[in-house]
Amino acid sequence: MNIRKISRLTLALLLLFASLASAQNSPAPLTVIRAGTLIDGQSNTPLKNRLIFVRDGRIEKVADSSASIPADAKLIDLSNATVLPGLIDSHTHLFLWGEDPKKGGYDANILKAGIALRAARATYAAKRALEQGFTTIRDVETEGAGYGDIEIKQAIEEGTIPGPRIFGATRGISSTGGYNLEGYAPELTMPKGVQIIDGPVEARKAAREQLEHGADWLKVYMTHRSWVDKQGHLVSQPTLTVEELKAIVDEAHGWGKKVACHAYNGPGLQRALDGGCDSIEHGLEITDAQIEQMAKQGTWYCPTIAAYYGDWAPENTHEGKRDRARVSVHETSFRKAMNAHLKIVYGTDMGGIPWQEPMAQEFRRMESLGMSPMDAIQSATSRAADMLDEKGELGVVAAGAYADIIAVSGDPLKDVTEFGKVKFVMKAGAIYKNDFAIRHKRHPALEGRHNRFPALDPFQSVISIVSGESPTTRGATTLRENYKHDSGRNFRQSPGRASILANATRARSSNRTNDAPRCFHT
Ligand SMILES: [Zn+2]
Repeated sequence: MNIRKISRLTLALLLLFASLASAQNSPAPLTVIRAGTLIDGQSNTPLKNRLIFVRDGRIEKVADSSASIPADAKLIDLSNATVLPGLIDSHTHLFLWGEDPKKGGYDANILKAGIALRAARATYAAKRALEQGFTTIRDVETEGAGYGDIEIKQAIEEGTIPGPRIFGATRGISSTGGYNLEGYAPELTMPKGVQIIDGPVEARKAAREQLEHGADWLKVYMTHRSWVDKQGHLVSQPTLTVEELKAIVDEAHGWGKKVACHAYNGPGLQRALDGGCDSIEHGLEITDAQIEQMAKQGTWYCPTIAAYYGDWAPENTHEGKRDRARVSVHETSFRKAMNAHLKIVYGTDMGGIPWQEPMAQEFRRMESLGMSPMDAIQSATSRAADMLDEKGELGVVAAGAYADIIAVSGDPLKDVTEFGKVKFVMKAGAIYKNDFAIRHKRHPALEGRHNRFPALDPFQSVISIVSGESPTTRGATTLRENYKHDSGRNFRQSPGRASILANATRARSSNRTNDAPRCFHT
């Protein structure tokens, strides 16, 4: 190679490096949100007229309205809205598709849906969560769908599908006799909605397996069946021993992870606390001594009030009495927990509640039991972020946090049902929904590069234009119809499965008086 060629090559390389360096040095584009009212997730009073500077997926700063806005910034006008951090639901099941007895109950989730169908439904659920303003979920086990939650999370993180940030608990853990499917002929080996363990060695091994395959949390069922005794008290069957739970907690904590424990009441709840659970799920009936123990140990409390109001059996039946007892003791425990200032986080049990239903319904339940709207908001923002070890990163609109931001048009402190009508959703700086822009048509720039999924639901949009129906109603109806038809098709195509299911239904109706007509899982 002669000297001239070498110098030309050097020059070309220099130019290439220079252009790469300048691309790296030029700052990411800036977006500025003009917030009429800001509830930042941690302050107890709303702030007026704030500017939120968003760059590279994070909040750069929050300033008052006098701050100057660079000419090249994209402006999002939410000056007539209330702006909040993206919401966090700390108890969901992406892979659960309802438990309606008319559709085969819990068991149909496992017996009648293959893994691809379940993944498609979970994809729908993830999108539903995000479009309702829930930018983060703690998904507390997949109900027999293995490590699907971690794979859905991967698909979201790589940008393949829209969805919230997921903290997944993978398979869940219970003991023999401690989870569905059950009620089948004893000679049949039925699949289970969790990983079954017996003894501390198996418990530790299950924890290690789940952590190895990406579990962000572990989920343990410390109680299973529930019923009312002759005195009318709610009773729940304990599952794992303290030793078994301690092995799981020890293993999880060693990995820097936490353990969520499903526990209704009685000995199972006591074992959950003695075994060192990080969060109590449902916690329907907590004694004063247990409340004290939770306060002392710093245990998080994730009540799921709304989930227990659906589909009560008739009042004079075993199931009907049990359904009413569950709600009544849960309400009392929730009030006690509030008075004791336990760390309460927002949880819905979506999946047990069909994903077509609103995720915001728990806000109304919390408020009806005396929680202030601001406290309820913090349970779904900064407090949940703290439980997830994401303090300052999630659940707050402040400098340094992820730009997970939502907006509603009214004042949620006066009316919590505003959360059922979230109109703006941004996750990591990307806009997934902006009904304000659609209505006002003032910011065409919003349809630009930050909007990775501009038409969040093209089918619903088309259907609503054609039919004139509300997109949400029509979408839900279509989905329900499809589900109905699909169930019928499965029956015809899979006589083996159908007969197993029919047997199960007969077995249940003949010998099961203690289980719920729905909410087998809850
Ligand atoms: Zn649950």
